[in-house]
Amino acid sequence: MKIIVINCGSSSIKYQLFDMNGPITLAKGGVEKIGLNGSFIKHESNGQKVTLEGEIIDHRSGIEYVLGILISKEYGCISDFSEIDAVGHRVVHGGEKFKSSVLITDEVIAIMEESTQLAPLHNPPNLSGIYAMKSLLPDVPQVGAFDTAFHQSMPDYAYMYAIPHSLYTKYAIRRYGFHGTSHRYVSERALEILGKERTQKIITCHLGNGASVAAVMDGKSVDTSMGLTPVEGLVMGTRCGDIDPGVMTYVMDREDINRSGINSLMNKHSGLLGVSGVSSDMRELETAAQQGNERAQLALQMFHYRARKYIGAYAAAMGGVDTVVFTGGIGENSDTSRYEITKGLEFLGLEFDREKNAGVRGQEKIISTDASRVTAIIIPTNEELMIARDTATIVRKN
Ligand code: AMP
Repeated sequence: MKIIVINCGSSSIKYQLFDMNGPITLAKGGVEKIGLNGSFIKHESNGQKVTLEGEIIDHRSGIEYVLGILISKEYGCISDFSEIDAVGHRVVHGGEKFKSSVLITDEVIAIMEESTQLAPLHNPPNLSGIYAMKSLLPDVPQVGAFDTAFHQSMPDYAYMYAIPHSLYTKYAIRRYGFHGTSHRYVSERALEILGKERTQKIITCHLGNGASVAAVMDGKSVDTSMGLTPVEGLVMGTRCGDIDPGVMTYVMDREDINRSGINSLMNKHSGLLGVSGVSSDMRELETAAQQGNERAQLALQMFHYRARKYIGAYAAAMGGVDTVVFTGGIGENSDTSRYEITKGLEFLGLEFDREKNAGVRGQEKIISTDASRVTAIIIPTNEELMIARDTATIVRKN
């Protein structure tokens, strides 16, 4: 069975074609700068990498271009479209309706259109990808995998905000959480690697440019750090994470900025970038901090401290913790961050092994001591594979 996984952003499309017998990746790549000057595709197949330029005005033409490359003699890996058995789409917001991945039907699309209000920046491009695939490959089944779905198992006392209840009934304002496919993948993979039962209490730390922590108990997400939007929780590359909402109204008054200004301040100018004034990129910040830049040092301390606080909070929420997983660009690659975040967690039973941790990048590895009661482990995430697996399961069932 061959499955193509599509992830449409506002001006980009990421894709990966899987042969589920294996599974192996046959081709992958990304379309960038859609609708802008200088759009291009980076494509990788058969060990060959190419960058192809083109005028890609919208998601439909981007997907058409990708499909053309997949069947091309020069860079392709399939002979015609009939080899594609299904399409899996990453969808950012599934609202309260989608608790797992689903076969995309007209009814599902209608519900997704309704959820657009909850994710005005993300869901419209996701839907564009679905519409494009529907028209280009009309007979191929499509599946939607939602970033929010895994966290739908949170109890109400964890997902409700302490604001008037009518705002929940009127507008579905509550915490949803994101990165669900990643938290699900790494928590399941942790059980496989460690040979443990689902009864484990796992804290998964997805630390990338966007970052979130999840508490996973008996295979289900019981809490996560992101909320209605992906701004809540950890200090991120450019997002502030947890903040007193009073700060925002105060800044709006003092700086005379409006709703869109404050939104951009929280999302694009805060986090590691805002504090350091250096960069949102962990590698650049680590270098600046090593060179003695005090604000870069402060930004890193805040990032590590906030993540450590969430680990403590989720251990309390679950009545303990058995495993802590690190994933995402920072979690997979920054040995300093993994060390700093877990520093002082011996009281929880986590004995970190600095030697095992040192220099590990992008590979599955246990980084706690053999005697540690709590296991700390690095697991590179693979959201695309998870979406492809869901797609295969759903398509086989239907
Ligand atoms: P992601 O959003 O998951 O792609 O993660 C991006 C983040 O991972 C950026 O802040 C990068 O600086 C960080 N990152 C990637 N590689 C490394 C590395 N070798 N050391 C430290 N941070 C890294």
